[in-house]
Amino acid sequence: MASKRIPLVAGNWKMNFDHLEATYFVQKLAWLLRDAHFDFRRVEVALFPSFTSLRSVQVLVEADKLKINYGAQSVSVTNQGAFTGDISADMIAHLGCSYVIIGHSERRKYHPEDDANIVDQVRAVLAAGMQPILCVGESFEERRQGIELDFAVGQVHDVTRDLNEEEAAKLIIAYEPVWAIGTGMVATPESAQDAAQAIRADMKATFGADVADAVRILYGGSVTSKNAVELIEEPDVDGFLIGGASLDADELARICRLT
Ligand code: PGA
Repeated sequence: MASKRIPLVAGNWKMNFDHLEATYFVQKLAWLLRDAHFDFRRVEVALFPSFTSLRSVQVLVEADKLKINYGAQSVSVTNQGAFTGDISADMIAHLGCSYVIIGHSERRKYHPEDDANIVDQVRAVLAAGMQPILCVGESFEERRQGIELDFAVGQVHDVTRDLNEEEAAKLIIAYEPVWAIGTGMVATPESAQDAAQAIRADMKATFGADVADAVRILYGGSVTSKNAVELIEEPDVDGFLIGGASLDADELARICRLT
């Protein structure tokens, strides 16, 4: 990959693994990537466990000085108060999280997460000193209509229009076509590149070349070690957000090495 952006391999565990399984997984992944051939400065690795596992992961990462980063899968838009069941950005930040996934299509579908809520989540995460990983991507219907690029760019724009340059530079964007998530139907490298390029062009038009060049754009949707190499060769694809394949430490380690 020609760019100076450090690729990010992000494992979105969704609602899988309790804290014991999470701890075992992190130990195994660190062991699999322990040798001199894998350079954590060249490829960044981040895991997204359930809220209930974050503290266990933090203790392990700090005790063993692991170079694996981690984050949360969602966040409350308010910082404290009478919001039963919610978890604030500060609580997440205090567990050593670097990132929060925001606006994943499963959150948009199963929870009342609309554009306004997603912007508020982004703001909450930035205010707590973490980086948001904003998920966008069209459904099969939008692709059938041929409006997938406008749709994905529009979803990004709905968030970025409320941000200033400094905030926008901290965004990570995950282009995840909904039809590709968990289906085994991966986007072609060309269409992943088209979407990433269109998103970057929109960021450039809004914030200028420096911000657009700095922002990492991930691809997500049925990524495996079999398709990762071709995808990462695309100039605007800066890594992956991985669901199913991130539940297998051997497979995730393979993807990290191939990235
Ligand atoms: P998948 O999920 O890799 O299982 O398709 C990706 C995601 O939902 O982030």
